[in-house]
Amino acid sequence: MPANGTLTVGTAVVAPGERGHGIIAYGKDAFGEALGVPITIVNGAEDGPVLWVDGAIHGDEPEGPLAILKVLNALAPSELRGAFVGCMAMNPPAFFNNERGHAWDKNTYDMNRIYPGRPNGFPTERIAHAHAEALVATADLEMTIHSGGDHSYLSMAIFHAGGASEELAKAMGPGWDLLLTGGPGGKSPMTTMSEAGKAGITVELGGMCATLPHDYHRIGDTLAEAIFNVMRHYEMLGGEAGRCETWLHGVQELVSAPVGGLWVAERHVQMRTPMRESDVIARIYDLFGNEAAVVTAPCDGQIFGLRTNPTVHPGDWCCFFARITGESTDG
Ligand SMILES: [Zn+2]
Repeated sequence: MPANGTLTVGTAVVAPGERGHGIIAYGKDAFGEALGVPITIVNGAEDGPVLWVDGAIHGDEPEGPLAILKVLNALAPSELRGAFVGCMAMNPPAFFNNERGHAWDKNTYDMNRIYPGRPNGFPTERIAHAHAEALVATADLEMTIHSGGDHSYLSMAIFHAGGASEELAKAMGPGWDLLLTGGPGGKSPMTTMSEAGKAGITVELGGMCATLPHDYHRIGDTLAEAIFNVMRHYEMLGGEAGRCETWLHGVQELVSAPVGGLWVAERHVQMRTPMRESDVIARIYDLFGNEAAVVTAPCDGQIFGLRTNPTVHPGDWCCFFARITGESTDG
C-alpha cells in the first residue's frame, strides 16, 4: 500500500517513513517569538488512519504527556501504517504552571469547556482554536488524556460520544470497561471530532497524588499500552488487539461538596465497587472538629474517582460517580 503522503501539522512537515516535530502557532510573545502547541509526528511507511493523542488540556494532568512520551519512544515509522500525532501539552501555559488552566486567562480558564475556541477570543480560546483547526484537518481518530489533576484520582474510565467514538473507546482494550456519557463540559476535542464526523474520546486515569515513580510509570504504561492497542485495533500496527469481554455503560453524576472543611473519605470506600444510593462516601468536618456534612452516593452505581485533596470548599468536586445504565458484550 502507498503511504499517506507527507503530513503537515503546524510547522511540522513529515514525510512517510519519518518522524519530526514542530509547533502549532497561536500568537507571539513580547519578544516577537512564536507561541505554540508542541506536535511530534511519526508518519508510517504505509497508509492508514491518522491517530492524534493529546495530553495536558488541563495543565495539572501529567499522565497524557508521559503516555505520549512512552509511545513516541517505542514507535518506529517503518512498522506503522498511517500516522501517530502526539501533542504532549495542548495547553502549554497551564502545563508549565501546573494548573488546570492558563493563569493569565480570567475569562476562559478551562480549555475543556471552551474547545474549539475562537481565533480572536480570550487567550485559551486562541490556543484551542489553533489546535482544533489542525486536529480536524488531519485526524481520523483522537484521544484526549485526562486525570484527576491536583484535587482527585480517577480510575480507568472513558467518555465517548456514541457511534465511531464508542468503537474507539472499546478499542482501548482490557481493563477499560467503564464507558460513560454525560458529565460536565460538552465543548471538548471529543465533541469537536464528533461534530466533524470523526471519532474522539476522553480518557481518564491518575492524578497528582500518584506521581511517585512506581505509580507514575504504572499509569503511563497502562495508557501507552491502550494507545498501542488502539493502533492494533485499527491495523496501524501488527498483532492482535486485546478487548474487554463486557463493558459497563453509565452516566456521570456530579458529586460536589455541600460545605467547606476537612474532607475525610470513609476508610472502606473503594472505586469501581457497586454502591447503593445513600451509602456514605465521606464526611466533611469543620475546623472545630464537628461533622458538618455527610456525602453519600447520589444513586445506585459506583465511584470511579475520588477527591485526594482533603481541603474542600462548598461546591468543590469531591467524587466522580457513575450511574450504571447497562452492560454489553460484542456478541
Ligand atoms: Zn482533565
